[in-house]
Order: sequence, then C-alpha cells, then structure tokens
Amino acid sequence: MALGEFELIDRYFSRTSARGDVVLGVGDDAALLDVPAGRELVAAVDTLVEGRHFLPDTPPESVGHQALAVNLSDLAAMGAEPAWALLSLSLPRPDAQWLERFAAGLYALADRHRVALVGGDTVRGPLVVTVTALGLVERGQALRRDGAGVGDLVYVSGWPGEAAAGLELLKRGIGPDPGDALVRRFRYADPRLALGRALRGVASAAMDVSDGLLGDLGKLCAASGVGAQLDLERLPVSPELARRQPPGDCERLVLAGGDDYELLFTLPEARAAAAELALASICPVRRIGRIESGAGVRCVRDGTAVQVEPGGYDHFA
Ligand code: ADP
Ligand code: MG
Repeated sequence: MALGEFELIDRYFSRTSARGDVVLGVGDDAALLDVPAGRELVAAVDTLVEGRHFLPDTPPESVGHQALAVNLSDLAAMGAEPAWALLSLSLPRPDAQWLERFAAGLYALADRHRVALVGGDTVRGPLVVTVTALGLVERGQALRRDGAGVGDLVYVSGWPGEAAAGLELLKRGIGPDPGDALVRRFRYADPRLALGRALRGVASAAMDVSDGLLGDLGKLCAASGVGAQLDLERLPVSPELARRQPPGDCERLVLAGGDDYELLFTLPEARAAAAELALASICPVRRIGRIESGAGVRCVRDGTAVQVEPGGYDHFA
C-alpha cells in the first residue's frame, strides 16, 4: 500500500486510550486486556461489506460508526458494558482522506461509550470492515434470548422503523439531505447501552432488533421455547415516521425494518409496571405484546387475529 501498512495503522488507529485495563494495545502481536474478577467477557463480531451492508457512496464517518455500532448493540442486548474493540480492515487502496473520516466516525462512537481500540488487521482487498467488540458483564447477569416465560410482557425500545425509512430514502437515490432525521437514524444510530445495563436482573429475555421486529421476536420466542401475541395497535410509530410515511408503510417499516439498534425484551408481569417507570427515564419503551405457550408470533389488531407475512404487507385491510 502506497501509504504503507504500518504508517497507516500508526497514523489512524493507534490512539492511546484512557482505559486502565488495556495492558497492551495496538503495536504488539496481540492485545492484553485485564478482565476483572467476577465478570464475564462478552464478545461479538460483525462484518460490513461495501455494496451489501452499506452503499458505495456512504460517508466514511458513517461506515466507521456503523461498524462499531452494530457490535455495541449486540453487547447492549446482552446487558454488557462495552470495553474494547478490534478492527479488521480490507481496503482497495489506502485513501488517506477516507481513512481519516472513517477513523473519526469510529472513534467518536468509541469515545462516547468508553471503548478502546486495542488491535486489528489491515489488508488490501475489497472494502470490508469487521469489528470485534468485547464487553463485561457481572457473572451470571447477562441478558439472553432464551429466558422468556409464558405470561411475560413484550417490550421494544425507541422508534423501530426510522432507520429502515432512512435507508429507503437513500436507496431511492433522490439525494435526501444528509442531515435528514431519518437518514441520520440509519447512519448514526446510537446503540441502547444504558437500557441494556438497566435490564440486568429485570428482563427475562432480550435481543437487539437487527432484522426487523417481527422476525426478531420470532427468534426470541424460538430460543425461549414459547410463542407470542403481538398487538399491532400498540406498535410505537415515531412522530417523524408518522409525519413522513403513509400509515400502512409505517407499520411495515416498524415490523420489518432493520438497522435500528433498538432492544426487544420481556418483563415478568409482576415487576413490569415498576420496571417500565424506571426504564422510561432512560429511553422510550413500549409494551407491544405478551408471551404465550406454543410457538411463533400471532399478530392481533384490536383483539382480532391478522395475517402478516414478513415482507408482504398488502394483507392489511
Ligand atoms: P501481526 O503481523 O502480528 O498480525 P500486524 O502487522 O497485522 O501484526 O499489526 C500490527 C499491530 O497493529 C497489531 O498490534 C495489530 O493489532 C494492530 N493493527 C493492525 N491493523 C489495525 C487496525 N486496522 N486497527 C487497529 N489496530 C490494528
Ligand atoms: Mg496482522
């Protein structure tokens, strides 16, 4: 690489961190990290491929942000506190301006959540960004997908569907203002780390919404060996979405849109009311259904069963 692999690493990815638990960071053969006694290490990895996970003209800051954000969202869904990250970068060419902006986006999110970049790998190839995020959770306290019990109430955080609406604007290629609220929700969504931490010892199950609420609730149910009733009239539709999209579109986006980094979780009914109050001080949370025996997700609107095909939403009469 013209810029030089080591020069590149040195220039863009060797910032020292304030974390005292990084014994050795970038520069040696591997990072050395101090895992405190009584805590479990939580590990997640995700890869973004240009053309598949992000559009070729995506601002580099957003690529850097998203590569870390998808992983931090996974840590949030486990109730973990993020600590460290590794970055594997495949680049067609060492473009200094692109790298500068990519690193700025990545470090901005890392700094916001006290994450230290402690290592990685840099190779020439198609543009592919892989981040491994490592976090910590008190032993035995991690949130899992398999803990939902019959009778538990189902909740979702924030505003699912906004990011998917932003992506649709970009895909339609009508050149939306980069400052557009929906576009920003897609490019710079903030993972729900504070909510994830607050759900420890409270939620019976949790996961992040990456592939759409309806499909992901199905996965949570399958992992827990239960079914769920989903109350369509309770779905949270953000004011921005309601203002910009026809009602049928809103529901489709909320149910099937991905990339929101919202959390889907269940609360045992006995502690739901108190928990709901406490959680509302962190971010909006909305009860959207109930766990039941059986399997799969039953969609209900105002008490009447409705057939919803994930992806095909013309069935809404
Ligand atoms: P090795 O040959 O031992 O794998 P490398 O030459 O690939 O080492 O990397 C040198 C150092 O730079 C290592 O500490 C590695 O973790 C770090 N590193 C390489 N690429 C990146 C990157 N994109 N971001 C952060 N650290 C990196
Ligand atoms: Mg290497």
